[in-house]
Amino acid sequence: MEKKQFQAESKRLLEMMVNSIYSQKEIFLRELISNASDAIDKMYYRSLTDENLQFEQDKYAIYVQADKEARTLTLRDTGIGMTKEELEANLGTIAKSGSLAFKKENEIKDGHDIIGQFGVGFYAAFMVADQVAVVSRSVDSDQAYLWQSDGTDGYTIEPAEKDEVGTTITLYLKENGEEESFDEYLEEYRLKQIIKKYSDFIRYPIKMNVTVSKPKEDSEEEYTEFEEEQTLNSMIPIWRKNKSELTDEDYVQFYQDKRYGFDKPLEHIHVAVDGAVRYNAILFIPENTPYDYYSKEFEKGLELYANGVLIMEKSAELVPDYFSFVKGMVDSEDLSLNISREMLQHDRQLQLIAKNIKSKIKSQLKTMLKKDREKYDKFYQAFGRQLKFGVYNDFGANKDDLQDLLLFHSSTENKLVSLADYVSRMKEDQTHIYYATGDSVERIAKLPQTEMVADKGYEILYLTEDVDEFAIKMLREYDGKEFISVSSADLKIDDDEKAEQETSEEDTAMFSKMKEILTGKVKDVRTSKRLKTHPVFLAADGDITIEMEKVLQAMPD
Ligand code: ADP
Ligand code: MG
Repeated sequence: MEKKQFQAESKRLLEMMVNSIYSQKEIFLRELISNASDAIDKMYYRSLTDENLQFEQDKYAIYVQADKEARTLTLRDTGIGMTKEELEANLGTIAKSGSLAFKKENEIKDGHDIIGQFGVGFYAAFMVADQVAVVSRSVDSDQAYLWQSDGTDGYTIEPAEKDEVGTTITLYLKENGEEESFDEYLEEYRLKQIIKKYSDFIRYPIKMNVTVSKPKEDSEEEYTEFEEEQTLNSMIPIWRKNKSELTDEDYVQFYQDKRYGFDKPLEHIHVAVDGAVRYNAILFIPENTPYDYYSKEFEKGLELYANGVLIMEKSAELVPDYFSFVKGMVDSEDLSLNISREMLQHDRQLQLIAKNIKSKIKSQLKTMLKKDREKYDKFYQAFGRQLKFGVYNDFGANKDDLQDLLLFHSSTENKLVSLADYVSRMKEDQTHIYYATGDSVERIAKLPQTEMVADKGYEILYLTEDVDEFAIKMLREYDGKEFISVSSADLKIDDDEKAEQETSEEDTAMFSKMKEILTGKVKDVRTSKRLKTHPVFLAADGDITIEMEKVLQAMPD
């Protein structure tokens, strides 16, 4: 028996991880169960290519058992097992994932949902155990091995006895300290609770012998106690369940299990469509903007399953760019398992699903805007910019989808307003939707250009983001009302125009002198009735306003 050392960095990494990666200790069980499930998946894959192996569904299970006396918790699986070399490589090297390697080697696209990929999950065991023993027998070997470690001081490997292929992991729970107790992981109800919480959709049964007590047949007072093997997980994927069976927490849990984000979802959309196109989907709008969201690195897409089997992790075809923040999964019976990425793009079924999903997201957002304004504001703060880009891109092709989802600051309201809000408040004689641009609401409010419009009692949209005005230009009009900048030369307000004809001779002489001095800088100098307290302002004469010009000049060629 030889003793080997963890590498120094690994040792430190392990300490760090055990103490910091996982905020909750109970996660260790999820990690070990996921590994067991992965190991069974691998058996399944093996059986596809190995004639000597039959994959009989009921032979495969994950067993969890606590022993209060010995203070041990044992997990046993009937998965593919590990050879001596694999024990060393996979458990002796932190951040080495045998599962990731397996997926790559076997070019697995349909997943059967192998979960592992980071190669750190196993070590979560050391959050609750000070000794871990792994006995494993690989499908490729007659000899089993025992791997043992205290998590900080290296590990040992020696031959062991094991009749069946698979892996048994025994955790020797830490002694209770002053502030923490590990006894809970020996309690039946607690184990059940954790398994339900994290591992309910694991496709293989997770079994445990539990003590059941029942009243004796001929007596109401006397009970008999006996052991019974129970399956603790429901195994049915959440998206196949009825909405009515699921709670908000279930969705949050799913979001976090799937690692769609590190935040919580702001909203979920559960879709079950059974018509010309059949699919189930669970979609999420995240609460926060992912750190790389507005960068090139960000990759949009939804998980795509064909009849419960994962075929693509990020199917970009499923969501338009302007809804690229949406996370989640789609499962359809109508898709073929062996469809390639290229073929998917042209798949009619997929296009129908994508179209359907788009309208679900749109209507969900509209409902949110109407019914839960606070939530919508939160959403808009995170992803509103993307919607505005959406209007601007593709030459406004998506404006019908998006115009009702946009919000802007306003001169009269103390909150963001929608275009529909604005139009509903328009004055009787008002024909246009006015907007002003600037760096901030405060600065725009001080612009001389806004005075005249505000004086008429008209509301003005305050556009503070670069993309705002581009989006507005692309929209051109809303509900038949054209957008017009407060700095455009013609404000479409009657008395404004008259003012220009009332220029006195004296002024005309002064203006031509001013134009002479400002040659090449201004096109014209005129009187205006728009000004109340300011002596002068700059007006734009064409389609491009001064603000837009600034943005355009700042853009790289
Ligand atoms: P990950 O699951 O992300 O790959 P882990 O640290 O959880 O990382 O596990 C490391 C590796 O150890 C796995 O990739 C797998 O190859 C192997 N392994 C862990 N548990 C088992 C098990 N029960 N049966 C077979 N192999 C296992
Ligand atoms: Mg794992």
